Amino acid sequence: LQMTEPENSCSVTSSGQSSKGIWVLAEVENNELAPVTKELLGKAVELSTKLHQDVEVVLVGREVVSLAPCLIAYGAKRVHVVENELFASFIEENYARAVVELVGKHNPEILLVGATLRGRGLSARIASLLQTGLTADCTELDIDSETGLLHQIRPAFGGNLMATIVTPDRRPQMASVRPGIMKAIIPDASAEGEIIRHDFSAFEGDNRIRLISEITEAISEESLSNSKIIIGVGRGVKNKETVAQIHRWAERLGAVVAGSRAAVEAGLIDARMQVGQTGHTIAPDLYIAIGISGQIQHTAAITGAKKIIAINPDRTAPIFNVADYGWNTSVEEALPQLTNGWL
Ligand code: FAD
Repeated sequence: LQMTEPENSCSVTSSGQSSKGIWVLAEVENNELAPVTKELLGKAVELSTKLHQDVEVVLVGREVVSLAPCLIAYGAKRVHVVENELFASFIEENYARAVVELVGKHNPEILLVGATLRGRGLSARIASLLQTGLTADCTELDIDSETGLLHQIRPAFGGNLMATIVTPDRRPQMASVRPGIMKAIIPDASAEGEIIRHDFSAFEGDNRIRLISEITEAISEESLSNSKIIIGVGRGVKNKETVAQIHRWAERLGAVVAGSRAAVEAGLIDARMQVGQTGHTIAPDLYIAIGISGQIQHTAAITGAKKIIAINPDRTAPIFNVADYGWNTSVEEALPQLTNGWL
């Protein structure tokens, strides 16, 4: 396919190379686009109107080209498709090498990645290979109208302040963005864009890494990124029987059960489902915190939730400061009422 260069602005890095384009790294789960990819595209489209540069997507995988029209419908002007058998399984080193190779050829101005379980490690590896900066876990992005720099905004110091970070002299300007925060645009099936298939048939993976087997577990950390309802279990829930009841209730609600670090340490919740500063950041429609006191290390990671309900018998618990609705009672009192006796 022939590429025509749009008459857009571009910047020149310290190395003298011009950089152009707002790139989004697509994430594919079970042959479908991860919701965060559509969200990133929504933000990239907004940034592109301020920066006057096109939105482009890197799509890496095995037989993923069929997803390219969907990316165009969500705002991509160009989709760079990289296919190879080696990308059938997610091996971070291989994905990073492929992206770095493409970025090296095209020199985008900005590269956005979802701050998902995969994206967090992958974005750091790509930034390190490209020797550029990375702002991890952003909750907002904007363009500085004077300098044209990407403002990469994220909570810092346990959520006590919002930091704005810029990358003045390295390209691409890289940010990973929390899932569930940016808004996808309404897809336009008639939108036009280019699909560029790059020849990666001779791509050699990292030979230090060999995939022996893949085990799919019922518990998926990814579900924390996608779930609309999350129930957070805290130390106040106290015993595994009550946690089991909460799991049964969650199944009925279509919710995922996660927890505080204290609940993880008490053996009530799997460590992979920890929410907080040293766990996952979440942004569901509804977060129900049961027996969680609401220390800053926990609440900093739940502010993206649209609504928060807290259940705690301690009226002074700080969780009530961030909750939309509070129920001042114990889990033992609350659960039978919430489940109407069917547990
Ligand atoms: P607690 O603070 O012990 O609170 C339990 C609550 O349960 C109390 O408010 C109590 O009133 C209530 N309760 C008691 N009985 C009942 C009952 N019968 N029914 C209902 N409620 C009841 N924490 C995280 O969660 N995630 C992190 O990622 C994280 N990272 C950290 C990183 C650092 C560097 C540090 C220093 C700390 C971190 N913490 C993290 C720990 C954090 O500071 C808190 O210790 C932790 O969040 C407390 O968990 P909790 O609210 O479940 O327990």
